[in-house]
This record gives sequence, structure tokens and C-alpha cells, in this order.
Amino acid sequence: MPELPEVEVVRRGLERWVSGRIVKTVEVRHPRAVRRHLAGPEGFAKALAGQRVGEAMRRGKYLWLPLDDSPYSVLAHLGMSGQLLVQPEDVPDEKHLRIRIRFEDGQGTELRFVDQRTFGGLSLHETTPEGLPDVIAHIARDPLDPLFDDTAFHAALRARRTTIKRALLDQSLISGVGNIYADEALWRSKLHYERPTGTFTRPRTAELLGHIRDVMNDALAAGGTSFDSLYVNVNGESGYFDRSLDAYGREGEPCRRCGTLMRRRAWMNRSSYFCPKCQRAPRVSS
Ligand SMILES: [Zn+2]
Repeated sequence: MPELPEVEVVRRGLERWVSGRIVKTVEVRHPRAVRRHLAGPEGFAKALAGQRVGEAMRRGKYLWLPLDDSPYSVLAHLGMSGQLLVQPEDVPDEKHLRIRIRFEDGQGTELRFVDQRTFGGLSLHETTPEGLPDVIAHIARDPLDPLFDDTAFHAALRARRTTIKRALLDQSLISGVGNIYADEALWRSKLHYERPTGTFTRPRTAELLGHIRDVMNDALAAGGTSFDSLYVNVNGESGYFDRSLDAYGREGEPCRRCGTLMRRRAWMNRSSYFCPKCQRAPRVSS
């Protein structure tokens, strides 16, 4: 699953190479890739043809292309292995090419959705007055969004009787923070993942948000150099981001702050990585 910085790099690539272009044809090569679109592959192709693609948008890990003269947006689901590629038209098809979108201009490049595992796809949804595809209207703003409200987030955190990592992964509270960046930000903040949110003070919330933003911006800086190439996205597994992670995946290795061996705990079907000394477990109480 790509995390927010990877998705933002894809968004910038789409903005650079696709926004403003008019769709000529859409070829759906695998019906599963448009299964979320109720009118089926033909309806999908018909709805897009002749439409001008607007500014590429993102909220959290969701990515979409509004259509300028249409009430609809194209929502991309990258899933586990989905990639959006801008390729010269004469480049041979990828083995797992699912959707091809050609444009009316003579730029000679096309947009391809490639997905080995077919969990991802593209779908059309009505755009809300706020500019979001209606199916993601409930997703909270992400911490890199200029309109993210730190004060409201703190209040919501305090009101929610949960633990901090659960809260960070709750997309209705804050979006775009995945397992990796949650562990990294908690390590930087010296906070245990099971700390109750009710114990958070305003400065502590502010510090945590600051670390979340730093971690994401570091990843963006690491990946931002490559997006100018035609290759819009290499999804996660490519080492595209040469991440220098301090917590995630470092079980048994020394904490970069205190040297204590890092630990991993099973957590909600995933893992949490932490330093047992820097990130003390909260005392058990109700
Ligand atoms: Zn430590």
C-alpha cells in the first residue's frame, strides 16, 4: 500500500503530464479494473471521452482527477500494486496493463493503469461542492493540507476514547497517516503507540503533528527528485524512496537515540515498532 508521500509524488506527476489534456479514447483491458464503476467498461470509456482533465487532487492517500466540464471525477485506487504510468504511445504494453487513456493532443504520451494483482482500479464519481468524489467525502484532511485544523484535531483526539496509533490511522480523524509513518512519528515524539488519547495535552499534540509532517516531508524530499521523469509512479516496492526509517522494520536493531534494541509487537493485524526505553508503555489503568 503506498503511503501519502508516494501518492503525492504520483499526484505531482499527473499534474505535470496529464492535467489540462483532453481524453480521446479509453481502452479497458480488464473489467476488474473498473469494477467500482457501475456502468461497466463501456460506460466508463464513454463518460471520459472528450473530457478535459482538471487539476490532479489528493486527500490523504486518495487521488483523483476532476473532469472540467462534467459533474464527475476519476478516482484512482492504487491498491497493493497499482501504478499510474505516463508512457510514450509506442512503448510496448506492460504485462499487467489494465486501462489505457489516450489524449487528443499530439504530445505522444498516454496514461496507463498497470496492476499486477487487480485490487486497484479507476472509477467515476460525482464531485461534491467541496470538490471531492462523493465516496470519499467523509475522509478527513491530511496533515500536509494547508486547511488541516490542528486545534480541532486536538479536541477530537481528546474526545475520542482510544489509543494514539489507532487514532492516527482513523481516516475520519486525520487522513494519510499509514502504519509506517505512524511508527516513525511516534518514535520521534517518544510516544508509545498505546498511549490513551485522553492524556494528550495541547503541546504534546502539536509536537506529534510536527513530527508527522516532518516525516512526510522528508519522504517527499527524497522522492521529489524523480517525478520529473515520464515514469509517474513506481508503487512503493521499488525503493523509489530511499527511506531512512528510524523505527519501522528495525526490530532487534539499536535505537538511533539511546541504543536499546528496538522491538516489534503484533498490532491490529499489523506490526508496531518501537524503542522500549524511549517509548514507555503507558501504565495500565481504565
Ligand atoms: Zn531509544
